[in-house]
Amino acid sequence: MSSIAFIGLGNMGGPMAKNLLKAGWSVTAFDLSEQALAEVVAAGATAAASATSATSGVDVVFSMLPAGKHVKSVMLGDDGIFAALPAGALVLDASTIDAATARELHDAARAADIAFMDTPVSGGVAAAQAGSLAFMCGGTVRAFDRAKDVLKAMGNPEKIFHAGPDGAGQVAKAANNMLLAIHMIGTCEALAIGAANGLDPAVQSEIMKASSGNNWSLQVYNPWPGVMNGAPAGNDYKPGFMVDLMAKDLGLANELAEQSGIDAEFGKRAGDVYRSLQEKGLGRDDFSIVMKSLAASLS
Ligand code: NAD
Repeated sequence: MSSIAFIGLGNMGGPMAKNLLKAGWSVTAFDLSEQALAEVVAAGATAAASATSATSGVDVVFSMLPAGKHVKSVMLGDDGIFAALPAGALVLDASTIDAATARELHDAARAADIAFMDTPVSGGVAAAQAGSLAFMCGGTVRAFDRAKDVLKAMGNPEKIFHAGPDGAGQVAKAANNMLLAIHMIGTCEALAIGAANGLDPAVQSEIMKASSGNNWSLQVYNPWPGVMNGAPAGNDYKPGFMVDLMAKDLGLANELAEQSGIDAEFGKRAGDVYRSLQEKGLGRDDFSIVMKSLAASLS
């Protein structure tokens, strides 16, 4: 049996760690939240007292943390993981973070003779639970070949991509989530226009899914309450994928666009939409809640 240290057991990391356990991995886990840690321990993981102590004697380290500053402090801070790992260790970070921090982690790992990959995911909590996540990986081909063994326990083997060199996974993820925000907002606007003009949102959704407006938000995440079983819209917009996280991802995408000299007009507008939802106190609701602010009948 192979052993892994898992750091960050939140909405995503919790179910991912459980899938590693199901696949036969021996998991040593750590989270600042005692409740998150207890849930994974109940599923068979061993609790560690700190991130670094979780890595003692394991083959692989995996992290699923909120943002770049958390990953940097866990990996490179006082009592950081990198300083404690033996040469040749494999570290995979699946958090969505800025590409610049990811590249800094790659450089630090190389200096410590550690194999590091940025491996952000797509698919959300449902895919994390089902073990069908997509992974987009940045780093060397050699590290990617080692990482695949771990990632297939949590993802769909056909959706594990080598995006390119250091940080490429984070670039792919930021660009993807910018597109996701744009088609979610567009889907909400289209459904609001339909509802305001007497269309049944379920019927309109079927029409658009069979037409050129088809997209992922319509297929698996319909934002109109009750149209789709299991979608956050039907559960009073409980996440799912929080507005706060989407706002963070749009910040990363828009920063990358700016650094690349690209005028991503719709990305910027999407950033404004999600920032204004945060200002209304909706940061911890699901990102499909944009529907509620557009359709009078839902407010
Ligand atoms: P979350 O807030 O539910 O979980 C993060 C966990 O990290 C929490 O349990 C927190 O206690 C823990 N944590 C924070 N700092 C820590 C530290 N120093 N040491 C140990 N644990 C620490 O977030 P999430 O929804 O699981 O998302 C995690 C990452 O995955 C984010 O980068 C997010 O952008 C990305 N992501 C989320 C989704 C989604 O649908 N939720 C989808 C794709 C990617």
